[in-house]
Amino acid sequence: MNLRQLSFLTLTFSLASVQAETLHKPSKSIEWPQNQRAAVSLSYDDALNSQLDNAIPALNHYNLRGSFYLTLASEVIPNRLPLWRSAAADGHELGNHTLYHPCSKSQLGTDWVKPYNNMDERTREQMRDEVILANSFLHAIDGQSKRTFTPPCGHTQTSDGDYLNSVSDLFIAIKGAEENLPEGFSSFVLPHGQSGDELIEWVKNEAADGGLIQIIFHGIGGDHLSVSAQAHRELLEFLSNNRETYWTNTYRNIMTHVNQQP
Ligand SMILES: [Zn+2]
Repeated sequence: MNLRQLSFLTLTFSLASVQAETLHKPSKSIEWPQNQRAAVSLSYDDALNSQLDNAIPALNHYNLRGSFYLTLASEVIPNRLPLWRSAAADGHELGNHTLYHPCSKSQLGTDWVKPYNNMDERTREQMRDEVILANSFLHAIDGQSKRTFTPPCGHTQTSDGDYLNSVSDLFIAIKGAEENLPEGFSSFVLPHGQSGDELIEWVKNEAADGGLIQIIFHGIGGDHLSVSAQAHRELLEFLSNNRETYWTNTYRNIMTHVNQQP
């Protein structure tokens, strides 16, 4: 990865990572499969080497499953395709994060977005075409047809409006736009440099009210917006040791459960 690519990726979620977004939980609840207090979705965005090197081995060690939102134009895809494929075979989710990771240059801190990847100049139809092709690419890797989506940078405004409605039929769920969750039932954090204890403390606090806890990682022990491999391992060990309290699973499996609720 060259420096330009690095800076492109480093700033991908810089705005969103400034603040962990936490919403108050309503009284309405969803029952998790073994009556756990909360569901935990561990996501890993942007198809990074450190995820293959550090995150997946740790997840497998603790017998936990995560969701990997692949930017399919990343060179890490062709360079290490067998590893992504075996991650899927191990039960991890390969999710859609588009081909080119377009973001809006009109948003603050997005000087790094290449002009041809400017969401402001895309149309909804273009985004749908890109997302469909990304789903086809993912299907060729893992053979799956049920898919979830994380919008790059969380930006969804194109030149002719918000594109999420144009792609919602392609997915069982979209991160941050969950249709079947009670309002305020989900909380998000985008870690950057936290210790294991800090990550665990955040999960404990969020779980007090139940709901769906979503941790959106990027680099693990390397790459951008990273946490150390040790901090990541400590969180996994905690989740592994407290399975009666936390249902950690792929976002696809969690949202399948949610969508089946009456
Ligand atoms: Zn991203």
